[in-house]
Amino acid sequence: MFNYKILEDEMEALKNEGLLVNIRTIESPQGAWVVVNDKKVLNLCSNNYLGFANDERLKKAAMKAIEEWGVGPGAVRTIAGTFKIHEELERTLAQFKGADATIFLQSGFLANQAAIPTVFGDENDAIISDELNHASIIDGVKLSKAKRYVYKHCDMNELEQRLKEARDVQNARRVLIITDGVFSMDGDIAPLPDIVNLAERYDAAVMVDDAHGEGVLGKSGRGIIDHFGLHGRVDMEIGTLSKAFGVLGGYIAGRETLIKYLKQKARPFLFSTGLTPADVAACLEAVRILQESDERVRRLWDNANYFKSEMKKLGFDIGSSQTPITPVMLYDAKVSSQFSRELFNEGIFAQSIGYPTVPKGKARIRVMISAVHTKPDLDFALERFEKIGRKLGVI
Ligand SMILES: *Cc1c(COP(=O)(O)O)cnc(C)c1O
Repeated sequence: MFNYKILEDEMEALKNEGLLVNIRTIESPQGAWVVVNDKKVLNLCSNNYLGFANDERLKKAAMKAIEEWGVGPGAVRTIAGTFKIHEELERTLAQFKGADATIFLQSGFLANQAAIPTVFGDENDAIISDELNHASIIDGVKLSKAKRYVYKHCDMNELEQRLKEARDVQNARRVLIITDGVFSMDGDIAPLPDIVNLAERYDAAVMVDDAHGEGVLGKSGRGIIDHFGLHGRVDMEIGTLSKAFGVLGGYIAGRETLIKYLKQKARPFLFSTGLTPADVAACLEAVRILQESDERVRRLWDNANYFKSEMKKLGFDIGSSQTPITPVMLYDAKVSSQFSRELFNEGIFAQSIGYPTVPKGKARIRVMISAVHTKPDLDFALERFEKIGRKLGVI
């Protein structure tokens, strides 16, 4: 038998460093308020930016799809598991994003595993990645045999250095630059126009993971490419429907040829069953709502701008966020987890985030503002943050 004591010791050590994750059980649907431990608390940590996770239209669409198509796809997409609604969702997403085509996968995590090694998998290839890219990008890169290069967060001089190394020293066959669109722990936006210019100069491909820009940036939440007007100049755009869209699933948007190729070759598409009809129908409904109106996206930004400016006035350090993601920087993991516990006692659900999700010494409470928070909700949060901030000597 394996010596499980090794694992217990490791978890004990995590606990002592304030790094053991406290997995809370949610006892109600997602929304501005949720029930946790029999207690109604203000929800400041879900990615349900637009309030779609428990939306009536989405729920009806999902139930109707179950009546019409059943609960499971029955096979992987390439054998017998592609329903008409899978294709309808792929077409609708392409239209929404202003891309030629999309391929839909089970999650954003898997979309990265599908996109990266499939086209840039050879040992003669080069992959150049921002140091703060999401774990699913890092794992996607690990599945490739390509030579890996990392550049300092959003540092375009370093990116250019890496491009020169890949082109002039390695003499790479194919070069891919990968960046998060919105960085999930800091809320800053990648300098995508500069990245695209450099890529064009060094004949490299560009991939952007827009998980936190989807439904947030651009016209009616069309994402980072729309935000910067870079249509047709980014090779692969990764999206997720698990965050602002409130459901589940991920996709890759790009040129027709790329998407056709991925449908032949991407292993998560070939060897793992696709999403259920209920999920797909709910995703479709979310996209349709955004095609009809940008009202939810505008409310999200109004709420975020209000909360962030008030937090700054109170003297909190909220990092370099340019989006509704609001990192309340506490640096010390123990202070951060204590802050989170005190918030919970005061009726606020906001998780502390530490290593390895963020670098050591950069612990924080990551506040996620949503379109369904009301002004009184936000004022309630601000008042509690102020009280605990003073008590812990943070402000
Ligand atoms: C959350 C996230 C993912 C994973 O998306 P899921 O659909 O939850 O698997 C991928 N990339 C980034 C940048 C993310 O923030």
